[in-house]
Amino acid sequence: MNAMPELETLINTLENEHALDRADLVKLLTCEEAFPVYTAADRVRKKFAGDDVHLRGLIEFSSYCCRTCFYCGLRAANNKIKRFRMEPDEIIECAKHAVSCGMKTIVLQSGEDRFFTINELCSIVNRIKCMDVAVTLSIGELSKSEYTALKNAGTDRYLLRIETSNKQLYKSLHPGMSYKNRVRCLYDLKELDYETGTGCLIGLPGQTPEMLADDLLFFKELDADMIGMGPFIPCAGTPLELQDGGNVGAVLKMMALARLLMPDINIPATTALGIKDSGGYEKGLGCGANVIMPNMGRSEYKKLYAIYPGKGEGITNLENQIEAIKSTVFKLGRSIGRDYGNRKRLSDNHSV
Ligand code: SAM
Ligand code: SF4
Repeated sequence: MNAMPELETLINTLENEHALDRADLVKLLTCEEAFPVYTAADRVRKKFAGDDVHLRGLIEFSSYCCRTCFYCGLRAANNKIKRFRMEPDEIIECAKHAVSCGMKTIVLQSGEDRFFTINELCSIVNRIKCMDVAVTLSIGELSKSEYTALKNAGTDRYLLRIETSNKQLYKSLHPGMSYKNRVRCLYDLKELDYETGTGCLIGLPGQTPEMLADDLLFFKELDADMIGMGPFIPCAGTPLELQDGGNVGAVLKMMALARLLMPDINIPATTALGIKDSGGYEKGLGCGANVIMPNMGRSEYKKLYAIYPGKGEGITNLENQIEAIKSTVFKLGRSIGRDYGNRKRLSDNHSV
């Protein structure tokens, strides 16, 4: 069998059965003919997730972090950046504005900032829930009882990327953190009935196609409801500042394979993808994505949330940002989601 027919067979299997083993995933990750993988993912996205693109209003509310992830500009050891922390009332004002712009989900994200108590966070979630929107939190690793309290306060979803499912690579990039605890958090979130989002960085130093295939299998095993993946972007003030970053083609391939493996989940075209490539959102939407997360924070804070370079730049005002996203969506013949954009499970609508 020559290369092309073999790839076609693998893509057909994935498109129809939504399963593939590690060795075959590696073949698709490393093949040069990416286009058939992208188009298959687009067909599956249309069939199972529909044409709607869900907009989630992102509010980055604190850049303080007690962790020291090697890739991230917010790491505690980076003393070159100015930090900020929003007041609860400021967060609520931003959420109100996002809702008035049509967002049906508010995503609150921060470094692991121990300043806010769980009770304070619950009260913020509670106030946002009164605006008739879904609430997603992305605030890192907590205990099960803390996740329980936040769920009881009304939180619908939680984003916690595994970053890499390779234990050695994970250990080398996350001093003082434990892979086991990261996985424990994700399974606690699932058990507590959060819509659970995870994902990985692509293009990390030392990362191989085999590791990326394992990431995909990890997502499937977890039965993740959302998968966010973006290129690693080297950031000044971090131990990886001189390393090469991830490439857009690899991210698109991972997104497409995630869609083929898990047809009914939500997949964002991530901010990092949009920063790495000016057509990143459009390309991502063509490779399986059905979510975009416009940054609805205050402009003076956006640049300070300096995970990687380029964040918060080029955004004129919120309304223009949303109009630009909508025009990309409409140009592709897609629509803007009007509901909360929960995962619509395969078993609810389709049989395979
Ligand atoms: N602190 C929380 C956490 O780590 O889960 C949420 C905030 S953290 C800034 C959100 C995501 O940013 C991380 O999951 C990581 O994948 C991504 N990130 C951090 N540094 C990055 C970099 N240099 N390039 C691309 N993405 C990066
Ligand atoms: Fe902190 Fe998250 Fe950045 Fe790690 S990735 S340093 S936990 S903000």
